[in-house]
Amino acid sequence: MSNKENTLLSALKFKCPHCRRTSLYTNPSLYTLNKLGDMKQTCEVCHTNLKPEPGFYFGAAYVAWALTIIMWFSLFVMLRVMDALEWIDFGFSTHPTLFIAVGIAATLLLFPYMFRLSRSIWAYFFIR
Ligand SMILES: [Zn+2]
Repeated sequence: MSNKENTLLSALKFKCPHCRRTSLYTNPSLYTLNKLGDMKQTCEVCHTNLKPEPGFYFGAAYVAWALTIIMWFSLFVMLRVMDALEWIDFGFSTHPTLFIAVGIAATLLLFPYMFRLSRSIWAYFFIR
């Protein structure tokens, strides 16, 4: 496995960007929503500062925005493929409510993961 794959997998699992051994988050559960954003100040294994400055993770909103666009585009492609396979009847102009309903459902279901992933990716950009 190349180093790049390790980086991607570690980011997807919210591991410390420096040692990749522990989680960035204090609570492992994605659906304990009141603890969703609780992050460690420092990694307990390598002592890397995981909150280098106040408001450090505000920039993660840009990552969340990009992830959301990728997700909606992926849903569109998935629906078009299912239409091509004749599993469902879907066209962007003929069935816009299906696209919007599936998109909103996916956004809500994936919100906790996307929220944490955007912060994790942000941390991997700026913490070494
Ligand atoms: Zn660490």
